Amino acid sequence: MGKTVIALQPARGALAPPAAAARAQGAALPVDTRGRTLRDLRISVTDRCNFRCTYCMPKDVFGDDHAFLPHAEILTFEEIVRIARIFHALGTEKIRLTGGEPLLRRGIETLVAMLREAVPGVDLTLTTNGSALKARARALREAGLDRITVSLDSLDDTTFRAMNDVDFPVARVLEAIDAAEAAGLAPVKVNMVVKRGVNDHQVVDMARHFRGSGRIVRFIEFMDVGSTNGWRMDDVIPSAEIVRRISAHFPLVPLEPQYGGEVAQRWRYADGAGEIGVISSVTRAFCSSCTRARLSTDGQLYTCLFAQQGYDLKRMLRDGSADERIEGAIAAIWEARADRYSEIRTAATAKERKVEMSFIGG
Ligand code: SF4
Repeated sequence: MGKTVIALQPARGALAPPAAAARAQGAALPVDTRGRTLRDLRISVTDRCNFRCTYCMPKDVFGDDHAFLPHAEILTFEEIVRIARIFHALGTEKIRLTGGEPLLRRGIETLVAMLREAVPGVDLTLTTNGSALKARARALREAGLDRITVSLDSLDDTTFRAMNDVDFPVARVLEAIDAAEAAGLAPVKVNMVVKRGVNDHQVVDMARHFRGSGRIVRFIEFMDVGSTNGWRMDDVIPSAEIVRRISAHFPLVPLEPQYGGEVAQRWRYADGAGEIGVISSVTRAFCSSCTRARLSTDGQLYTCLFAQQGYDLKRMLRDGSADERIEGAIAAIWEARADRYSEIRTAATAKERKVEMSFIGG
C-alpha cells in the first residue's frame, strides 16, 4: 500500500495536551507552519472500488488477488462521526466522503444522516464514480447530503470504458448525474482527469456537452498520486492549455475565487452558459492555501494527498482516549504541518512511494 503510519501513544491518564486545553479556554483554532487552517476533511469510507481507472487503481496492481482492508480495520460509522465532531471543533467546515468508491460502503446513507445530525453546520459532500448513484441519489439527499461530485473522464464510450477498465458505459453515469440533480444535489460537479493522448481530445466535447446545463465540469491535471500510475510530466495537459482549447470554441472569462483556498480556478462562459473549473495541481500549485486533511479508511490521518506517512488516529479511537486527547493530538499534528508537495514536485519526487489515492480519497 506504500504507507507509513506513526502511532500516537499518549500516556493514559495524563492531562489533555496543551493545545486542547488552550482551545477549551477559547484559544484560537490550529494553524499549520504556513498559516493554513484545518478547514476541510476528506474521509475515505472504503478502499474498494468497482472501477480500475488506470491512473488510480490499475488492474495489474489492484487485481483479483489484491488484499483490501479487513472489516475490523475499517473505521465504524460511530468512529467516523466521533472524528468528524472533533475536527469540527478544530475548525473544519467542510466534509467530503470519498473512497475508493464511497457508495460501495454498505449503509452510506446512514453515515450521512449520522454526520448531518452530529455536525449540522458543515458542508457535507461526496465524490463518486456514479456507477451506483442513480438509485441512491434521493436517499443520500434525504439523509442530508448537500452536494455531490461525479467523476467522468470522457463522453466517448470507447474511451471511458477503456479508462475505467471494467467496460462501464458513459450512459449510466450520465443517468446518475440526472438523478442527482433531480434529487436536489445541485449544482452537480463533474470531475474529468485529463491525460495527454488518452482523453484530452475530449476536453472541448465535455465542455460543449455540459455548457448551459447548470452542471460544472472541473478539468483536473493528471497527477502523480500514489506509486502505481506511471506518471510522467509529458502526460500532463496544463490547465492553461485546457482553458485555451475551450476558449477557442466558447470564450471564457476568469472568475474570482468564492473563498480562500478554493482548489479550482473558475471560468465562466462569456455568453452566460455557466462555468467550468480547472484544477492545476501540477502547473500552478495551490499548496499555500491548502486546508485539507485526509482520513484513510482505517483511521490514519494524512496531511497531504502525496504524503508518505500517516498518523494513527484509530488507535486512539479504540484505546479509550477521551475526545480532548484526540483533539489535542490532531491539533499538534496540524500545527507541525509543512506540506507543499506540489510546489516541489520533480520527476524524482514523482517516483517516491506515496499513499495510494484509493486509500485516502482524491
Ligand atoms: S500537494 Fe499536498 S499540500 Fe499541496 S495542495 Fe496538494 S494536498 Fe495540499
